[in-house]
Amino acid sequence: MDVRPTLLLSIDFEDWHQLVHRRLGRVDWDRPHPAFPRQVHALLDLLDELDATATFFMLGMTVANYPELTCEIVARGHEPASHGFAHVRVHAQMREQFESDVRRSVETIEQVTGRRPIAYRAPAFSITRRTPWAYEILSQLGFRCDSSQYDSPRIPERIGAIPDAPYRLRLSSGPELWEFPVATWGPVPIGGGSYWRLLPAPLIRRGLDDFRVLYFHPYEFAAEPLRANLPPSPTPRQRATATGRSLWRNAGRGLVAKRLRQVARRYRLVSYDQAYDDVARRYGTRTRALSQEGVLV
Ligand SMILES: [Zn+2]
Repeated sequence: MDVRPTLLLSIDFEDWHQLVHRRLGRVDWDRPHPAFPRQVHALLDLLDELDATATFFMLGMTVANYPELTCEIVARGHEPASHGFAHVRVHAQMREQFESDVRRSVETIEQVTGRRPIAYRAPAFSITRRTPWAYEILSQLGFRCDSSQYDSPRIPERIGAIPDAPYRLRLSSGPELWEFPVATWGPVPIGGGSYWRLLPAPLIRRGLDDFRVLYFHPYEFAAEPLRANLPPSPTPRQRATATGRSLWRNAGRGLVAKRLRQVARRYRLVSYDQAYDDVARRYGTRTRALSQEGVLV
């Protein structure tokens, strides 16, 4: 029997080049990019090597762009989940827009994979104090689990007092959702790729614990550097954006895979759907509700 403690592994399945090219205003931003399948395959091969499974939070438009790659992920044993359709931050949408964006992603994922997602993660962890209604809509759409909370200082107006382990979020209308917050250690966000490239390894090791959530992106696993292509006659601002994004994302390239290998020696890495029973046994009585001020109590 595997006695290692468990970490919950999640991946945001989105094409870095498409999102950056959209921001840069390129007209052809949504064209499939050859680097993306290479990144995903590097990641899938690493997960095989580590005997790990992951929950893939899939962007609907990415699924529509790469249906075969999406099917391969599921065929290789990983859980399809929703990251919305167009990667628009939740607090930039009205309720109706949010609902139709999420619904569209669910339909696209179900159509391509044959599986209806039950876990959701907001783009850029953007369910905030201003958008508590998002949880109600997720519950109405049939989701059982949310993983949009991350107590990171980079997320403005984030929900207050986010626990560091899974818990039941009781909605004001009555039902409950499982919340799987991304791992933090005290005030330090340690669950994500950006921090894994910057923080010292011993600190990450010390901060991890049973049933904490890790999250990464496919672009963090390919050997080739990321390079945004500028639109014709770019403005200085577009140039700065392209350079800034590439520098930030290329710093520490290779470190994430190396550290995940180290972590996998001490922890079992599994997708959410493989852990629900264990999580329910251990955390089923931990319930929180959101106060008027957007703080968990
Ligand atoms: Zn995302």
